[in-house]
Amino acid sequence: MRQIPTGKPSIGHEDVLAVQQALLSGWLTTGPKVQEFEQAFARYVGSRYAIAVSSGTAALELALACLDITAGEIITTPFTFVATANAILYNDLKPVFVDIDPETLNINPKKIEAAITKDTKAILYVDYAGQPCDIDSIRQIAERNNLFLVEDAAHALGARYGSTRVGAIADLTTFSFHPLKNMTTGEGGMITTNQEKLYRKLLLLRNHGLDKEDKKFGGAWSYNMKLLGRNYRLSDLQCALGLTQLQKIEQLNQKRAAVVNRYREAFSSIPEISVLTVQEKAAPAWHLFVILLRGVGRNALFEELGHRGVKANVHYIPIYHFDYYQTLGFCPTDFPNTEKAFKNILTLPLYADISGEEVAHVIGAVKESIKKLAKK
Ligand SMILES: *Cc1c(COP(=O)(O)O)cnc(C)c1O
Repeated sequence: MRQIPTGKPSIGHEDVLAVQQALLSGWLTTGPKVQEFEQAFARYVGSRYAIAVSSGTAALELALACLDITAGEIITTPFTFVATANAILYNDLKPVFVDIDPETLNINPKKIEAAITKDTKAILYVDYAGQPCDIDSIRQIAERNNLFLVEDAAHALGARYGSTRVGAIADLTTFSFHPLKNMTTGEGGMITTNQEKLYRKLLLLRNHGLDKEDKKFGGAWSYNMKLLGRNYRLSDLQCALGLTQLQKIEQLNQKRAAVVNRYREAFSSIPEISVLTVQEKAAPAWHLFVILLRGVGRNALFEELGHRGVKANVHYIPIYHFDYYQTLGFCPTDFPNTEKAFKNILTLPLYADISGEEVAHVIGAVKESIKKLAKK
């Protein structure tokens, strides 16, 4: 049976043409499309600077690296993709997980303060499913304790908090352009910041730590290596695609929002299903549509949906459960809300190009399956 996938990129003719033109331009990488994409991106989110990198994971790694933290703890959520916490480990820092809010599934600010120690250096928060966190509360905690704020907005391109768009709020914000995110460059990522010093350092870190302005060795050919940087550049081909995708991000997000509204309305009368609460100041850019189940087994529903041609998914397995993180000594009972969400959560298909009939099919499949399972 043909399956309706959980997510899918939206690639149009204009995207194909843009990549083709970039290919024929002679600039495959480090050409004009990189800056063009960065400038358009910064303009869109309202940040002073944007730095394109090779993935959302690279963006996270460099965002932490540019802060000059030599040792210490970074507070984050366990209910995210592994890349969020891995980026902390790449920087030889210690991830400290804080439990989530049961209604938004975002990190719970009320529990952050208790996790702060003399070694805490930053809060790395994730806008789960596309909804900005309770940023006012998080910022107050950061200011009281002199901590950096880093926002993993891999889900939240286009979201707003109050009147400000995500990307112009934290010290550093990271985005991902993986094919399943709200816009794509195949692989790719972006870091935004308003601070020139961080921007300058990120430019070096992205390109082997090389400073071409430094003429230490004499001639115009001279350059110097200042930092142990990486090659995390994004190619011109990818930036060309990023530009055409960014041009339609509002439309793509609107299409997702319309699907979310249909799902919410259809499921509002089903007592076994609840959906995420939207916080007062948050205007989400929905990336995932997740349901929380009551009185119906998640795995059973996953199977039933599969039989009806609907591919669901689980976002996420809490990071501390993975073998690698288990060796670092985390205890699941410290995270009761994360555990409860993990047990009862299911992600349903959501992407810009899903058809009206497909949405109707998903809704019908969920209703039928719940009816069957609730009887048991
Ligand atoms: C996708 C994702 C990332 C990683 O992005 P990549 O571009 O795949 O490296 C990081 N954090 C979150 C929350 C994500 O969903």
